[in-house]
Amino acid sequence: MKVLVVGNGGREHALAWKLLQSDSVEKVFCTPGNGGTAVLEKCENVAIAVDDFASILNLVQEKGIELVVVGPELPLSLGIADYLQPHGVKVFGPKQDGAIIEASKSWAKDLMVAGGIPTAKSATFTSASPAKEYIKKEGAPIVVKADGLAAGKGVIVAMTEKEALDAIDELFAQDFAKVVVEEFLTGQEVSILALTDGNTIRPLISAQDHKQIGEGDTGANTGGMGAYAPTPLLDDNLSQRITKEVLEPTLKQLQEKNIDYVGVLYAGLMITPEGEPKVLEFNCRFGDPETQAVLSMLKTPLIDILLACTEKRLAELPPFEWHEGSAVCVVMAAGGYPSSYRKGDVISGIPTAQEEGVMVFHAGTKLNNGQILTDGGRVLGVTGRGSDFKDAIASTYRGVAKIHFDNMYYRRDIGHRISN
Ligand code: ATP
Repeated sequence: MKVLVVGNGGREHALAWKLLQSDSVEKVFCTPGNGGTAVLEKCENVAIAVDDFASILNLVQEKGIELVVVGPELPLSLGIADYLQPHGVKVFGPKQDGAIIEASKSWAKDLMVAGGIPTAKSATFTSASPAKEYIKKEGAPIVVKADGLAAGKGVIVAMTEKEALDAIDELFAQDFAKVVVEEFLTGQEVSILALTDGNTIRPLISAQDHKQIGEGDTGANTGGMGAYAPTPLLDDNLSQRITKEVLEPTLKQLQEKNIDYVGVLYAGLMITPEGEPKVLEFNCRFGDPETQAVLSMLKTPLIDILLACTEKRLAELPPFEWHEGSAVCVVMAAGGYPSSYRKGDVISGIPTAQEEGVMVFHAGTKLNNGQILTDGGRVLGVTGRGSDFKDAIASTYRGVAKIHFDNMYYRRDIGHRISN
């Protein structure tokens, strides 16, 4: 079968790589893909933008593609599944009515309240003054969130009242119609990527990521500088609670709204110091870089799982199988990221790193005259497995050490919250 993966990040490279491990997957197309998917065997990049649905449909029909796996949230929230499905194409990813769970934080909050799903106390505002009144009443620290896709820049964790009040002005000035103001939670963040066919929901192994640019989790937020899976923070009891108290009631709420949700339901959770899981956000797609670590641990063929979701037979699948041990992903970025950075530097050493046994997933790269060049802020995700957490970290950094490009930057402390 032929599969199309929509997107161009490390997540999409990992999806294509994992799909191609099954003999039943004859070829994977990526729109637009990156330097990694360009050189992956049996994979072909096609230069189509993720929101150009008409060209994607043409490609699907011309090549006889049976399954489309959508990576990023943008095409999902613009309705790619709604567009393709009436043409008989199987799409792994929710339609617009389900993707709103990520696109609108106030919508997601209302759903959580209706379903009794544990989350931070919050209020939604359509204008600045009542929002400011509320902030003055609640005090800082407090969290201000734009109600719309903001590429990771719509959340302000305000440590002072002034910061929160300024954030309100800024977000309304940027034309967001609504702003959510939320109780500040402390604890450790965990990502649960669950897969659903609309009737059954099953979590993949848990993951944690490092969002900040600096070592010790300091500095500006990024798309993610590294991740690991599974996290020892969740024991069986807590994992089961998350399924029962978060995932299943969320699916039930979606069903009650007549939303046929097929795809990833990603719960970003805070595990409070009391050990309570509380939802920070839902995403409607695979997380990046968490997916690179999680898929590296998956033994069950991914194609079987994704098809079972699109064909509504997830309940019939045996439990997913996983490799023993852990996986760790270290993101190698272009110096300067997440602010301005340079593109076009030659990357060397990837084959040597692969000989060390790590997977090198490309994010911001491109193939140019046989050379792999940097082409984005987050350049590569080097992912290694190990029999335990320390072993996985050591193996990943052995791989990282073989790779070079000018001005490269990576954190040397991925996993420090666990290994220390
Ligand atoms: P992402 O890039 O993860 O999709 P996002 O812009 O959708 O981010 P959230 O995940 O809601 O936004 O928030 C981003 C980050 O802000 C969280 O990962 C967390 O570190 C912090 N945060 C969000 N809500 C809270 C909260 N209630 N209390 C404390 N920190 C929070």
